[in-house]
This record gives sequence, structure tokens and C-alpha cells, in this order.
Amino acid sequence: MYKKICNKCHQPSFSSCNTGTWLCPICNHDLTRIFSQDAESAKNIKQQLELLANKYSQKQNPVPIVNKSI
Ligand SMILES: [Zn+2]
Repeated sequence: MYKKICNKCHQPSFSSCNTGTWLCPICNHDLTRIFSQDAESAKNIKQQLELLANKYSQKQNPVPIVNKSI
């Protein structure tokens, strides 16, 4: 599965094949020369970003305060 972002209307379009003429389904702009992204790897990147976000949110948890009077 391949994905291209139209440089005219900025809408994503998807195709199972990366060859031949690729026209934007929304505005009919020619996307053939636009670099395609692998939709699966884009999904993985999103998952990695979510994992990173979780990591950072965990870091923001309050650090336990050590009571020095004990
Ligand atoms: Zn378009």
C-alpha cells in the first residue's frame, strides 16, 4: 500500500501499486512524480511516536519526595 500527499489540495491518496499515472482522487492533480510513502511504515512511525509520547509522559510523573527528617 502506497500513500501520496497531493501538493495541490494536501489530501492523502492511497494505491496498492506505485507504478503508472497517479492522479489525485480529489482534485485530479498529477501526483505521478510525487514521492510515495509506504503506508505501512507510516503507520509504524506513528506507533513509534506514540511510544515516545508515552515515554515522555511517564517522565513527567512527579518524582517521589524523600522525607529527610526520617
Ligand atoms: Zn489533490
